[in-house]
Amino acid sequence: MKKKIAVVAGDGIGPEIVAEALKVLSAVGEKFGHEFEVEHVLAGGCAIDATGECLPQSTLDTCKAADAVLLGAVGGPKWDTLPGAKRPEKALLGLRAGLGLFCNLRPATVWAPLKDASPLKPEIIGEGLDVLVVRELTGGIYFGDHIRSEDGQSAKDIMAYSVPEIERIARMAFDAARKRNKKVTSVDKANVLETSRLWRETVTRIAAEYPDVELNHFYVDNAAMQLVRDPKQLDVVLTENMFGDILSDEASQITGSIGMLPSASLREDGFGMYEPIHGSAPDIAGKDIANPLATILSIAMMLRYTFGLLEEASAIENAVAKVLNGPLRTGDIATDGTTIVGTKAMGDAVLAAL
Ligand code: NAD
Repeated sequence: MKKKIAVVAGDGIGPEIVAEALKVLSAVGEKFGHEFEVEHVLAGGCAIDATGECLPQSTLDTCKAADAVLLGAVGGPKWDTLPGAKRPEKALLGLRAGLGLFCNLRPATVWAPLKDASPLKPEIIGEGLDVLVVRELTGGIYFGDHIRSEDGQSAKDIMAYSVPEIERIARMAFDAARKRNKKVTSVDKANVLETSRLWRETVTRIAAEYPDVELNHFYVDNAAMQLVRDPKQLDVVLTENMFGDILSDEASQITGSIGMLPSASLREDGFGMYEPIHGSAPDIAGKDIANPLATILSIAMMLRYTFGLLEEASAIENAVAKVLNGPLRTGDIATDGTTIVGTKAMGDAVLAAL
């Protein structure tokens, strides 16, 4: 397979963690006989410095022409005084909108050797945890009209969803479930909201196309509770934009390791942008101490969800598991008795395990 990947290393630790992820991508290419051509482009603070814009048109064009995008992180104190619309983080919204990415996949995985980092009790985590939150990203209340009355004394935000919007995100969730444990939990507030009743009806209808995948429904308040009470019952959690925003953050916190969590934003044709969920960590940038595993695991997601290379994706995840079963840790996930290594050494350890 020959594929082109646009790479936005970005700011802060972005370039350091992306370099390690690209080493792993190239090794997977060699091992399995694929050619991954990489083109680096600017977005975020470094793009502001070089061009005056956080998302130059040429960056968007290169990303559009690529088969997938890998992003490190953007932003940092140097650009914090810029007005909202000119800040580096605006590039993320521009990329998501410009590339038509409506589906956000956020796995919350507790790796067995890191389970002590979870704030939940060991018996709740068991031997590890693996939940995938599938969040609709371009509809719902964040994208409806936001209205303030003329006298300023009342306000409303419009929450709207259409059947095609729900159908396409539901199919993404069922497709993802087929590559995992074949269970979807759809989250809504159908006891109160009309959009949620439409959501539930539509998801239930789409489920008939996937007889091999089990479907159940939770109200969002119950879902928030079940995530900390008994997260092992969940595999794929499908939900709309605002509920997904909140639940995916809750899910990431139960892992306790922000440096370990990858994410994907996808389009219907499988094209996607892959990135760690953490930011540019300016406090540790340039010191070779950032954890590159979230970015390396983002490459695994890219192989699985955009390129359909399941064996190759598992090879990366198994290599990460093998490293974590040994003593090496970056500082953020180190515990007593482990050996602290830097960003590059952690990347090399994954390469060796591959
Ligand atoms: P952050 O995720 O960058 O950092 C939070 C804490 O986690 C810091 O102590 C940091 O050192 C640590 N951390 C993060 N990633 C790590 C890693 N891989 N290894 C080890 N430790 C890690 O969040 P923040 O400090 O709130 O934001 C810093 C900047 O990043 C801001 O400018 C923010 O706007 C931006 N940001 C960007 C993205 C993105 O590009 N997707 C996401 C969130 C924040």
